[in-house]
Amino acid sequence: MFLSGLHKGENSVQKQQQWDTTWLLFARMMADRHSKCASKSVACVIVKDEKPISIGINGTPSQHVNCNEIYLKQAGVLYKASIDEVKDTESVLHNGRMFYRCTNQEEHHEWSKLNEIHAEINALGKLAADSTSARHATAYVTHSPCHACSLALIASKIDRVVYSTGYEYGDGLTLMRQSGIEVIHRPLTEEYFLERIFDKDL
Ligand SMILES: [Zn+2]
Ligand SMILES: [Zn+2]
Repeated sequence: MFLSGLHKGENSVQKQQQWDTTWLLFARMMADRHSKCASKSVACVIVKDEKPISIGINGTPSQHVNCNEIYLKQAGVLYKASIDEVKDTESVLHNGRMFYRCTNQEEHHEWSKLNEIHAEINALGKLAADSTSARHATAYVTHSPCHACSLALIASKIDRVVYSTGYEYGDGLTLMRQSGIEVIHRPLTEEYFLERIFDKDL
């Protein structure tokens, strides 16, 4: 009895870890394929009762001009598609458009604060628009949530936050833990992307 109970416990932990990885991979794919931010691709998938109930990706509100229509980041250098920037500045051709090296490399950061909605807020906002509760749900995020998003996740009564990239002590993690949210850092490695190819006969 005791052994079978223990075994069951281990299985459910393993099962939870497997699902955590699945949803993180899903979030990563959504971010990589669909984020229109030139600087960072972030996604948040909110899962409740084993179902994804909302997906948020970082970016400008719909109908607004996308970040990657204005900015381009290549090898860590920020460029902007603007004619007023043209002087003797370095330029690159990308998707048929010219982008010019920004004098202020922090420019996107300032612009983003005013124009882009973080993935977590987008995911929670969609739920709010549908009057759906995130209470007791899990938020899977590609990056550790910033301070403002952590506050929003706390306010929404989320139970768990699982993220794959970020700093263990970054921004709102402590705040969320203090509020009773289970915060888990589960890094994704290349092997997760390859395991199916090697393990299964496709
Ligand atoms: Zn951006
Ligand atoms: Zn945020």
